[in-house]
Amino acid sequence: MALLEIVKNPAKVLVTKAAPVTKFDAELAKLLDDMYDTMLEHDGVGIAAPQVNKSIQAAVVEMGEERAILEIINPTILATDGSAIEIEGCLSFPELYGDVERPDYVHIKAQDRNGEWYEVEAAGFDARVIQHEIDHLFGVLFDKKITRVYTLEELDEMAEAEEEQE
Ligand SMILES: [Zn+2]
Repeated sequence: MALLEIVKNPAKVLVTKAAPVTKFDAELAKLLDDMYDTMLEHDGVGIAAPQVNKSIQAAVVEMGEERAILEIINPTILATDGSAIEIEGCLSFPELYGDVERPDYVHIKAQDRNGEWYEVEAAGFDARVIQHEIDHLFGVLFDKKITRVYTLEELDEMAEAEEEQE
């Protein structure tokens, strides 16, 4: 296992459309493993290759209650539906959190580390994470989509209020 350095905004690699992956080899497999370890180390739920300074269309996200690993390579969004506004953060923007509106459902086609095509549908939080990471592969960053920024104090207060409710 190796931890990679996370590229922080501003950086050219973060706003550049990444190249499609053409080689599904041991190097790609190692990169995906290292990206996953790096994501966990930073308590992330998704990470895209440009965030570790690799301008290729590869991302890793965790899905569902069981936090299954989904590797998203050369993705296409086939369909979206609905709309939701939730608070997002990003490993490349430490301490920036804000409301982002996105479709509440997404259906994508992508390749896995072996180059096999698959389709997956996701809703709610999973759909949000998948769309955030796919944005990264096209040089699109979430700060441009934020409609309301939250300070760390506001987030702490919200977390405390939620705990009191329980
Ligand atoms: Zn991000």
